[in-house]
Amino acid sequence: MHSSSELVAARLAVVKPSASIAAKARVDALRAAGRDIIDFTTGEPDFATPAHIVDAGVRALQSGHTRYTASAGTLALRQAIVRKLQRENALAYDASEVVVGSGAKPIIFNAFMASLNPGDEVIIPAPYWVSYPEMVLLNGGRPEIVECTIDDGFKLSARALAQAIGPRTKWLVLNSPNNPTGAVYSEGELRALGEVLMQHPQVHVMVDEIYEHFVYGQARHVSLLQLCPQLRSRTLVINGCSKTYAMTGWRIGYGAGPAQLIRAITLLITQSTTCATAAAQAAAAFALDGPQDSVAAATRIYEQRRDHMLRRLAAIDGFDCPAPDGAFYLFASVAGLIGRTTRQGQRLQSDLDVTDFLREQAGVVVVDGTSYGMSPFIRFSFASCLQEIDRGCDAIAAAVAQLAP
Ligand code: PLP
Repeated sequence: MHSSSELVAARLAVVKPSASIAAKARVDALRAAGRDIIDFTTGEPDFATPAHIVDAGVRALQSGHTRYTASAGTLALRQAIVRKLQRENALAYDASEVVVGSGAKPIIFNAFMASLNPGDEVIIPAPYWVSYPEMVLLNGGRPEIVECTIDDGFKLSARALAQAIGPRTKWLVLNSPNNPTGAVYSEGELRALGEVLMQHPQVHVMVDEIYEHFVYGQARHVSLLQLCPQLRSRTLVINGCSKTYAMTGWRIGYGAGPAQLIRAITLLITQSTTCATAAAQAAAAFALDGPQDSVAAATRIYEQRRDHMLRRLAAIDGFDCPAPDGAFYLFASVAGLIGRTTRQGQRLQSDLDVTDFLREQAGVVVVDGTSYGMSPFIRFSFASCLQEIDRGCDAIAAAVAQLAP
């Protein structure tokens, strides 16, 4: 029972901490304790922000971008976003339909806060980015988790969507390329989902395209709205600079959508954070308008790492890892390790056990699939250099070789 004298509000009882942030904190703590740890939890590029963007940020600070800006973001940045959406996604928006936040994360959070009434449902295909269900819960909504199996490429089918939609469905969250699976929806798959959505005018779509540039092989990123422009009035496009330009710490993300929702999100910003950091906004505008070579270069490097890590894991008994088409994660089934016994006599019963085992016996930290809504899986980030990937895979192979069948 929650008493009025308790400091923390009852509403927090529904929310879990972010598993990926917790895993990262564990890495930091183990390293501080002197352990040699290989970190495959990283949800951010390991590259530095490109120098021309850093320079733009420094110039912005020197030239007086040190004050509050408009809560929706500076007009200069919103116009740069409008140009980006036109150039890269063939989407036409007005600056009044764009809002800038301190990362994409608060835009998603505020979108739910601005739109969910108690009991409204949000369809979240699993595996999902850990924050979606928690944000829905915190804002009084009900996450409707729809499991998308490895055999379906971890993707939501039109049939599963049609079955999941009910009278209280307010949103569908569609994240492609996907964290944690790297799944990328094809044009055909998006069109099929769009057709279902067309039959349910009460359903809005949040398309999270934060990994859009990191796609590999034959895969191409297409925005749902490019294919189904009829959905424009009920779609919120989420994107940001964190992953594309290795700018996670600058905290710049944005949403583009119907003006009414954008105004509501902006209202929440006026009463919470006021605005995103002024100099970071100036640098973000420069990043969007400036040379894009760093993005293509990063994509090529990620693809090499993906291929390398896939090869290495395929050679280790117990991991079944489909090739991801995008993002910088591998989502591997560890069903082949379940039931095996460690040298200490512990039987591995879940992906959480496997995660603990890898940390303790191999010094490798990963995130359990349970946290992403699917088990027994684990997520490996390949946002680390090839040497580190090799070091980690060597350690995993050695630890797994010690398991009794
Ligand atoms: N969406 C997805 C799928 C993510 O993986 C992340 C970060 O990990 C975000 C949104 C938030 O990014 P940011 O708040 O840094 O813009």
